[in-house]
Amino acid sequence: MAGPEILVDIQKVRENTRTLVEFCRSRGVAVTGVTKVTCGMPLVGKAMLDGGVVSIGESRIENIQRLRSSGINAPVMMLRIPPLSRVDEIVTTVDISLNSELSVIQSLSEASLKKGKIHKIILMVDLGDLREGIWPSDLMNVSREVIDLKGVKITGIGTNLTCFGGVLPSRKNMKELVSYAEKIENAFGLHLDIISGGNSSSLPLLMEGGMPGRVNHLRLGESIILGRETVKGTLWPGCHNDAFQLTAEVIELKKKPSVPIGETGMDAFGETPIFSDKGEILRAILSVGREDVIIDNLEPVDKGISVLGASSDHLLLDVTECQQKLNLGDKVNFDLNYGALLASMTSKYVKKTPLMGDSELMTPIKTLLLGNSPIFREQILLDHLKEMGFGYEVSDWEISEELISSSLDVGNVPIVGGEINKAAVALKGMARSLKQAGLIIFAPHASLIVQGNEQRSFLAEILGFRDDNTNLSSVISPESVVIIGLRHAERSEVELIKKHNIKVYTMEDIDLLGMREVMINSLRQVTTGTEGFYTRLSTGVIKAEGEGLTFREAHLAMEMIADSAKMKIFDISGTPDKSWIDDKGLCNLVESAFGKRILNF
Ligand SMILES: *Cc1c(COP(=O)(O)O)cnc(C)c1O
Repeated sequence: MAGPEILVDIQKVRENTRTLVEFCRSRGVAVTGVTKVTCGMPLVGKAMLDGGVVSIGESRIENIQRLRSSGINAPVMMLRIPPLSRVDEIVTTVDISLNSELSVIQSLSEASLKKGKIHKIILMVDLGDLREGIWPSDLMNVSREVIDLKGVKITGIGTNLTCFGGVLPSRKNMKELVSYAEKIENAFGLHLDIISGGNSSSLPLLMEGGMPGRVNHLRLGESIILGRETVKGTLWPGCHNDAFQLTAEVIELKKKPSVPIGETGMDAFGETPIFSDKGEILRAILSVGREDVIIDNLEPVDKGISVLGASSDHLLLDVTECQQKLNLGDKVNFDLNYGALLASMTSKYVKKTPLMGDSELMTPIKTLLLGNSPIFREQILLDHLKEMGFGYEVSDWEISEELISSSLDVGNVPIVGGEINKAAVALKGMARSLKQAGLIIFAPHASLIVQGNEQRSFLAEILGFRDDNTNLSSVISPESVVIIGLRHAERSEVELIKKHNIKVYTMEDIDLLGMREVMINSLRQVTTGTEGFYTRLSTGVIKAEGEGLTFREAHLAMEMIADSAKMKIFDISGTPDKSWIDDKGLCNLVESAFGKRILNF
């Protein structure tokens, strides 16, 4: 039986974000988009990032992992005070956390030092709402202790209001917050980048012009999600209040009396119901109940419908005045408030269905599969590319510079693969179309042999280190080249790497830093000052753990590449070690590099 669904209009989330980010920006305030009420739904996180938020705010590690595994690599702010027991996970999964407990901050510092990192923190101050925060009289003492810690850096202070005590943000308490920030700055001779003035309930004060100029950051959840501020709950100008709706199916539709017949006692929830007699009415039962959602906070979109009540699995409606003609099997939609949304998003009985805008459904990009790689004959790869909205053409044609260049000029992203190595041709073709490009290579070898061994000379040729007239270094600077997964390099190769500042991540670096960190740095390197980059996946890089990249690491890397949206050509080459990866696995990697996700929502 069709159960209830939450429909999430991704385009509306993006538009709400844009509206609010633009409003805040015009007043000098940056926005962190809070996804917690959606349990870290990746498409919502992406829509917020597209809408211009500087980071994602979350309250649970599980939700953050969900965002991360869908390729969201934007900074993430941990909103809930980190539990002592999970500081290790916090420093690896999030970039910045809100804090109020000295001992937690000390543990965070130790944990991040162990990883060779510095974890950023915002000190939370309690301005009277009595949820989290350092009490103002303790603030200077705590700050003094924290400043001496080597593994954390105070990047700002913040407060949270209107959550427990219902205290509203005001000129007075916001000025207090700024004065605490300045006190810390003056006492310890530092500058606080962030003064975070609260959540969606701070928007009205910002609108009135009552926010002190130094408050430069807000953490917005409900206002983006439901399109309204949270002091009075009024719709924010230009925002949609229906980005999220609950929908459920009519499973019974009958004319019945409005008052029960017979002697009445308690209902299923121990209440004694009261009915007013309206005669016979048209009653609908929907396939949703108290087990799924908070019934009291549902509002039918059709104003002619009224909610009569609910039991565990049934919602009863009076649809006598319903504007549309209802039939059995039809869906009825509801607007929700924050509580109802939270309950539905966390309920495993409620399906979450993202509605994509036209722009997302069909990416106008085509790909051209060039070469005789056996994976190009895997129907599943072709099907998945199509599902993702890529037009494709399979071609055994001779790869020529001309073909690559004209393909890039019309916005295609060619995939090059096969036994005979065509990377040099493809790169030369790319150099015709782009002024500056990056190159990201996943390979166990450096391929920087200057004399002899043609198999291991590909990069030396591209960068003009061999005497064969090829030199693309004016387009592909050695500083825009990254090699990931290196396991062997000859002495002469190491010298070239050092001399030309080619960035290399060995297996050891990957173990130490983690693939995410490696990819963030690598993508920055190959996209800085370039129009895009070439990806070369030499399949021999994938091996057993410790020896080479694991399949999972390769996957994450490909997902992050897709997410950068800057890849110009994908090149899959080499002979894979079939004991670690088969053709299907390789197809998976190609699909990930083109944006396929295992979990889309
Ligand atoms: C949930 C939360 C927010 C977002 O609040 P909204 O009212 O949804 O905007 C901001 N900051 C903290 C600390 C939170 O826990």
